[in-house]
Amino acid sequence: MTAQIIDGLALSKKLRASFKEEVATLTAQGKRPGLAVVLVGEDPASQVYVRNKIKACEDTGIHSVLQKLEAETTQVQLLAHIDALNKDPNIHGILVQLPLPKHIDADTVIEAIAPEKDVDGFHISSAGALMTGLPHGFWPCTPHGCLKMLDDIGYELRGKHAVVVGRSNIVGKPMAMMLLGRSATVTICHSATPDLAAMTRQADVIVAAVGKVNLITADMVKPGAVVLDVGMNRNAEGKLCGDVDFDGVKEVASWITPVPGGVGPMTITMLLANTIESAKRA
Ligand code: NDP
Repeated sequence: MTAQIIDGLALSKKLRASFKEEVATLTAQGKRPGLAVVLVGEDPASQVYVRNKIKACEDTGIHSVLQKLEAETTQVQLLAHIDALNKDPNIHGILVQLPLPKHIDADTVIEAIAPEKDVDGFHISSAGALMTGLPHGFWPCTPHGCLKMLDDIGYELRGKHAVVVGRSNIVGKPMAMMLLGRSATVTICHSATPDLAAMTRQADVIVAAVGKVNLITADMVKPGAVVLDVGMNRNAEGKLCGDVDFDGVKEVASWITPVPGGVGPMTITMLLANTIESAKRA
């Protein structure tokens, strides 16, 4: 069996086209969604991510503001910027690009974002809402994008066994909560899991969110499983790749996301979705 590809680019394109119409309608009603992206320092990867986010806003008609701050910006100065954005009625979403320079405490900064503008979904209020199943807050964009992809292929999660590899606050943990919310039986694996393959072999759905090239190989995948690859790594040749040995696993899985062109584009798409949702709630 060769797996069908879950095309994150195509799904993103479809969703963004519908967002464009929604944004036009909101703008006509005087409620144009607005996103502020705050970048501290010169991290090259962050600069690319931020540029892509601003470009996606422009393409969709979302008002966007990029605040580039020097690497030497103090935590107090950054908090003052966030406070101003919290009060700005034209801004519905605030995203502080991570990682932050070492002298700034990321948790303090994230908690300073007004929960109703927390479109990254990292605020404790959003995390708590996801955990308890309450409707306020925002879901983190990457796992939300994964869920959208499963919905798009019409995959019924109820009663299935999902294995999430990785337990970060931005991907693994919220992914597990979303899958649980859909009544999957969820196993979360991490660096202290003694026999990862024994876990993944039981999975109907695998979400790999680790950051290690070729961590998930064909022998670790049950025939017919759905495999979502969140990882973004460079292999020995410098080529962008995920956590999954794509060529091997695609011969075993029923559906698989490629890297690039899988989960990556969906992350920005769900950021746009959260920003539009925030403008609607405002
Ligand atoms: P983190 O480094 O925060 O978390 C990695 C997780 O993997 C940790 O929970 C860690 O366990 C676990 N882990 C490490 N080694 C193993 C192992 N051998 N077996 C099982 N689990 C292991 O990463 P993120 O969650 O932020 O990101 C994960 C990957 O996803 C990265 O490649 C990142 O670049 C990518 N990413 C992609 C996005 C996209 O848009 N496509 C968005 C965000 C991230 P422990 O907790 O025990 O240390």
